[in-house]
Amino acid sequence: MRIVQLFIEYASHTLDRPFSYLYKGNKNLGQGFRVLVNFNHRQLVGYVLSVKESNASAEQLEEETGYHLDYLVDVIDDAPLLNEDLISLAKRVSEYYLAPFISVLQSMLPPSLSPRKSSLRAPKIAYDQYLSINHYSEESLTDKQTEILRLIKKERKILKREVGSPSVVEKLLSRGLIKIVKKEKRRLAIPNYEYQKPPLLTADQQKVIDEFNNSSDPVFLLQGVTGSGKTEVYLTLCDEELKKGHSVLFLVPEISLTPMMMEYFIRRFEHQVAILHSELTPAEKYDEYRKIARGEARVVIGARSAIFAPLANIGLIILDEEHVESYKQDSIPFYHAREVAIMRGEMHHSKVLLGSATPSLESRARGKNGVYHLLRLDKRINEQKLPATKIINLADYHNIDRDSYIFSIPLREKLSAVLKARQQAILLINRRGFSTSVSCRNCGYVFRCPTCGIALTFHKSDNMLKCHHCDYVQVMPDTCPKCGSKYLMKTGFGTERIQDEVHRLFPEAKTLRLDSDSAKVRNKIPSIIESFRKKEADILIGTQMIAKGHDFPDVTLVGIVLADIGLSMPSFRSSERVFQLITQAVGRSGRSDKVGQAIIQTYNPMHYAITYGARQDYEGFFNKEMGMRKLQNYPPYYFLTSLTVSGKKEETVISHTYSVVDYLNEHLGDKAIILGPTTPYIARDHLQFLRTVLIKYRDYLAIQNTLKELIEIYAKKSSIDISINIDPYNF
Ligand code: ADP
Ligand code: ZN
Ligand code: ZN
Repeated sequence: MRIVQLFIEYASHTLDRPFSYLYKGNKNLGQGFRVLVNFNHRQLVGYVLSVKESNASAEQLEEETGYHLDYLVDVIDDAPLLNEDLISLAKRVSEYYLAPFISVLQSMLPPSLSPRKSSLRAPKIAYDQYLSINHYSEESLTDKQTEILRLIKKERKILKREVGSPSVVEKLLSRGLIKIVKKEKRRLAIPNYEYQKPPLLTADQQKVIDEFNNSSDPVFLLQGVTGSGKTEVYLTLCDEELKKGHSVLFLVPEISLTPMMMEYFIRRFEHQVAILHSELTPAEKYDEYRKIARGEARVVIGARSAIFAPLANIGLIILDEEHVESYKQDSIPFYHAREVAIMRGEMHHSKVLLGSATPSLESRARGKNGVYHLLRLDKRINEQKLPATKIINLADYHNIDRDSYIFSIPLREKLSAVLKARQQAILLINRRGFSTSVSCRNCGYVFRCPTCGIALTFHKSDNMLKCHHCDYVQVMPDTCPKCGSKYLMKTGFGTERIQDEVHRLFPEAKTLRLDSDSAKVRNKIPSIIESFRKKEADILIGTQMIAKGHDFPDVTLVGIVLADIGLSMPSFRSSERVFQLITQAVGRSGRSDKVGQAIIQTYNPMHYAITYGARQDYEGFFNKEMGMRKLQNYPPYYFLTSLTVSGKKEETVISHTYSVVDYLNEHLGDKAIILGPTTPYIARDHLQFLRTVLIKYRDYLAIQNTLKELIEIYAKKSSIDISINIDPYNF
């Protein structure tokens, strides 16, 4: 008899402990295996933590433990899923983020291997079938059979489906002359890029690399202006690690947005590269994951969850565009890939390199006080100038005329000059859809999402109203549901509207649009980017997606149609986000030999996020924003944690939130500042009411135990749910 300790698949705080089961089968079983168990009358997947042999009978064991012990239904895997290193990492992540252990495992593993029921239906290994000789003899074969047999002999190993003549193949198989050899197939199709020799490094790049190599610091921040050649620094460092026999983990915010990056890596490191990102199918992810686990890939490129890739012997972990918020998972366990990278680096003694043109304030502050080793690339390659940038005040009537209230006169003039010169332009509006809200002119009714309560966006291409927070959609009605009036008013504008406006003003211009609507179709994003690079369009219109990392040599104009959008968001990060967006977007202009320019349209021409962004003055912005953060006790001066209480009854939620605040005040005293209860920006979620408490503190270790105790107390209450987000981005 074996006694098995396991976690079940439900990621809740109350169930975040091992459960005991019995196993009397004879399958291989140990830590890291998935098993099938009955739990509360349901069949669930469990993740085994330990297995103990026992000579006692089930009755004796039940007597000993005082529990009723159930038998496992079955063992799912024939080998453990995670090695010791990854299990220790999972424990550390779950400790730091105060997240159920199983939730970390579920984030770590690809869908086919995840400890959850749905993984049982997920794709398994696919094989290619090859034919080879088993026993060679041409005796009493037909001519056709002899021909095929000779072919197989000549090729030694040949794909079964390439041989044709299936009936002949079956005959040869049944006579034992040939045999089938199965080989695991890699389902991800990777283009066959040719090897590319590296360019000669510039003196600045070499200096950064030497400084990196000569230091024994664990974490580096490479701050390099847009177009300064950071990618080449990554590639060189990666190459050096491989030569030392180490492997490299390279993270990007989202690969589909930067297909070029993948191409660079494949051209340099060829078959050694494996890829893990959100656009892969579960089958492709499964294959890549196994390729890495088998030790066949030595460079892994991937998005957030690739930080958990089962790579051995890691010498270097790189996070490109470290400031991008998609590195933070916005659901349990709410981990940030940067923090996990640093944990993993520490465990493996591998260096961590963070790179960005606009580092997050937290990272840059750590770079300033030496927690991270700051490296800099302050000039563009070949000393190209940063684009000349102009701020256009939309409130000034000199800039706007009747021809368009969206595009100012200067922006229209520049656009038309770019089109005439057969160069390209990028127009950025950080909002998708056609118009941002629809209301009734007669009674003032505003169309809102029934789930989250925020205003719905009108999408013209499919005539739908969509919620940009959840997945809610409805067909755009002809009349007001409240008063029946047919005068519905659409206000505000997004990418679709901008595209319409360009077509109206410049009917000859060819446009492409890139936003998360286009991302709904698989592989659409890379194809749009590729098409624009090939100059199949003159103007690319999009959301922040177009601001990221792309290298379009013929873009000489970037227009930010309305820079203010992010500023009105209720977040202490709103200025930082707007500054980053402007700097990154402007950085897309004039990256090759042509001089670039940028136009920023705004109603807040004096706002520091906009003025520093226009000047590409990171230091200026950093100093100003640090002052603001200090005044308000925000990161990087203080750390933050948000606690969200949710429940079906608003009153219950409010009263429990007050008691959470009391509890925290009582137990944390002057170790933290407690704010709340506040109503979050999105105040409802799937018909649950939400209230938030914000905790500001300087020393996480000083408050961690109180948070743990609080979770334990409140996890037991059935009328509410409590969720905790360490270092939150949205609250
Ligand atoms: P960043 O990531 O810092 O914005 P990139 O890495 O995209 O900048 O580099 C900008 C451009 O400079 C790219 O087209 C790249 O191919 C080119 N480049 C980078 N390093 C070199 C080098 N050492 N010699 C020549 N061209 C380079
Ligand atoms: Zn109405
Ligand atoms: Zn919604």
